[in-house]
Amino acid sequence: MIGLISATAAGAAARDRLAAAWPDRTRVYEGPVADAVRRAFAECEQLVCFLATGAVVRIIAPLLADKASDPGVVCVDEGGRFAVSLAGGHGGGANELARAVGEVLGAEPVVTTATDAVDLPGLDTLGLPVEGDVAAVSRALLDGEPVALRAEVAWPLPPLPVAAEGAYTIRLTDRLVEAAEREVVLRPPSLVVGVGASSGVPAEEVLGLVETALREAGLSVRSLAEFTTVDAKAEEPGIVEAARRLGVPLMTYPAGELSGVEVPNPSDAPLAAVGTPSVAEASALLRGGELLVPKRKSERADGTAAMATCAVVRRPGRGRLAVVGLGPGARDLLTPRAKAELRRAAVLVGLDQYVDQIRDLLRPGTRVLESGLGAEEERARTAVEEARKGQAVALIGSGDAGVYAMASPALAEASDDIDVIGVPGVTAALAAAAILGAPLGHDHVSISLSDLHTPWEVIERRVRAAAEADIVVTFYNPRSRGRDWQLPKALAILAEHRAPGTPVGVVRNASRPDEASRLTTLGALDPATVDMMTVVTVGNTATRDIAGRMVTPRGYRWQTAQEGAR
Ligand code: SAH
Repeated sequence: MIGLISATAAGAAARDRLAAAWPDRTRVYEGPVADAVRRAFAECEQLVCFLATGAVVRIIAPLLADKASDPGVVCVDEGGRFAVSLAGGHGGGANELARAVGEVLGAEPVVTTATDAVDLPGLDTLGLPVEGDVAAVSRALLDGEPVALRAEVAWPLPPLPVAAEGAYTIRLTDRLVEAAEREVVLRPPSLVVGVGASSGVPAEEVLGLVETALREAGLSVRSLAEFTTVDAKAEEPGIVEAARRLGVPLMTYPAGELSGVEVPNPSDAPLAAVGTPSVAEASALLRGGELLVPKRKSERADGTAAMATCAVVRRPGRGRLAVVGLGPGARDLLTPRAKAELRRAAVLVGLDQYVDQIRDLLRPGTRVLESGLGAEEERARTAVEEARKGQAVALIGSGDAGVYAMASPALAEASDDIDVIGVPGVTAALAAAAILGAPLGHDHVSISLSDLHTPWEVIERRVRAAAEADIVVTFYNPRSRGRDWQLPKALAILAEHRAPGTPVGVVRNASRPDEASRLTTLGALDPATVDMMTVVTVGNTATRDIAGRMVTPRGYRWQTAQEGAR
């Protein structure tokens, strides 16, 4: 919950706008201001104070305890110009909150946390448990001192400006080690614990068993990712409660699936009870990985029979491949999600001219693998290979990366051992349509005239089908120096079914600095004015030039009736 506190009329107005934007997440605290701030501080995870920073500092100073547990506090000034992250920037989420408040109120977010200000991800914001001297290692990163990354487990981290050697280290490990001086230990969620139990097992018995197994194997409980078991035990209270206390999800699988997993220690008891010779080992191993602790049983002080078993598996780090569309060119047509993925990636793969388009957005330490035109397959392969090494990779393309671009060659290469995240982008047809008017108001199709990868007969057949079906057509890759006869040919096919006066929109470099567009007709278009930076959109028989804009009616029946009456 976010507590909102204001003092003046202007503050209250801004407060109400925020409350209206986030009705379920906010609570307004009324009454004397100091008292309201104190109550909100005690009750909420975050505060937005429409008050001077000085006033808020004085009120919260005696309440501050620890940056890991204190609420995040944001102050908005009387003019609503700034949203200041005052305290709890990382742990309390105040930096993120300042940005979000800024979006809603049109205020400038003010963030002074060093790692955020120079664009490094805070070591405590990577989403992984962290131990050791975070402040010292962060300072070293900021000061450009060499910080070495020692990754014992491959895990898709965001970019960090690390060196091969350094006086400071970031250690990525699930092993039970103490952070040394000038060292930070990051805990990847790499350990999967399979649990088997008889009905009525006490939660303490499961917890004790798991904690002992991890400790004796030299593994950190903070790297615990999940509990696994058989479906029949999905609601076994002792298992559910133990998972809850350790803060991990419980994944369950059908006995049939578990009995297909080869395990070192099968036994008859679970086979009789739940229909698989192994629960702990099989469920932990199901998604692959290395068995670190074979099945072991709980020990009971009174010597009665053990009620729980567990096994520990280290699952392989799954790389992350984001396939990101950059939009047609203009920065404000790049989606916020695309931007976030570009900054999340430690490795960026793309055509050099697209990399140039977004280079300023990349975080320090991002490894850029760029190549020239062509080399598509190779780019796709490189991106997938890097992801399979456990890296966080972004593969970029202009417009939408799935439209005549990198997504399909990349996914054709990708196996199921990596996560793939697709980020849609504004494709050229849409960018051009918005410039032209509303040419895509009814059914439409895109056709690439490049016969590099597709035989011309196939292209021609599709153009003909679109022509016969009276579908609006946008041509991508319409014409290059070596390919100059395809566009005239395609237009001629359309002209067999559409009048010479049919509107045609030509847009070159949509949303780029030298954007140019014109509206002409099927009869008047000079193909020589079209190049590879261009898309050509040909209307259907209902498309009209209305006040210089290309408009394709949505085709409601009444419209046809109206036209008939004219
Ligand atoms: N993935 C891209 C398309 C790649 S094919 C997308 O979704 O937009 C390359 C063709 O796209 C070019 O030959 C041109 O026809 C078209 N194109 C890409 N960007 C364009 C832009 N900004 N303006 C006009 N056409 C563009």
